Amino acid sequence: MHDLIRQAAADLTASSHAIVLTGAGISTESGVPDFRGPKGIWTTNKQAEAQAYQRYERFLDDPKAYWEETLGTVGSGSDFYNQMRKVEPNPGHHAIARLEQLGIVKWTITQNVDGLHEKAGTRRVMHYHGSVEKLRCLSCGSRFGVDEYSLDKLPPLCRCGRPLKYDVVHFKEPIPSDIMDAAEEEAMKCDVMLICGTSAVVYPFAALPAMARSRGRSAVKIIEVNAEPTPLTHQGISDYLIQGKTGEILPLVVDEVSKLLSRRDGHG
Ligand SMILES: [Zn+2]
Repeated sequence: MHDLIRQAAADLTASSHAIVLTGAGISTESGVPDFRGPKGIWTTNKQAEAQAYQRYERFLDDPKAYWEETLGTVGSGSDFYNQMRKVEPNPGHHAIARLEQLGIVKWTITQNVDGLHEKAGTRRVMHYHGSVEKLRCLSCGSRFGVDEYSLDKLPPLCRCGRPLKYDVVHFKEPIPSDIMDAAEEEAMKCDVMLICGTSAVVYPFAALPAMARSRGRSAVKIIEVNAEPTPLTHQGISDYLIQGKTGEILPLVVDEVSKLLSRRDGHG
């Protein structure tokens, strides 16, 4: 494993445009509840799962009812969102922020709706599935901080007059086109793609590694940090897998990167 950590550090240090993709695996290490695991929200509460499938249509049909349910006056949505807004980043999030500060990582594209990358100090984050910290207008695409709205009058309205929805992308809801375009652009541009804590089986997010791979082995190195091998490993989309916890492996990668950088700078 240590050889692979050194390899990842060397690949990152040699890159000119590295990006990071993250998924649930990095956040569960912070205690963010997952949905489909053995103790996941939907595994243990089938009603919540059924409700989750209706959220997007609910908003389209009746934005006020959607918000009442979200805030917990009728349903139980608020527990989850509030819980998620209280968790703290772990060493994996901090390591990614450090790689950005070192000028190596240019964008972090996450499937997670928590704001843990930002809390750890990462500045350039694309929320592929939206964020619990934001509200979004489906009409004009504007986004606002949750804290900008008191939410005592429902539904909250955009400046354009249309009702705002949580930025979080629900089932059956399309990925916001601005994010989708920007993420694809990065997949076509990066020379290192570091994939952390995601099996990348949920589309269209899962298309990003394949898109990068289609550019050829010499154009981009694809590195996985995951607890278990994934379809990316089995299909040879990733170049190598560093198997283990992101919160343990990523800080070791950063240590190695720091050594390489100081050696490089030391020798001019
Ligand atoms: Zn609007």
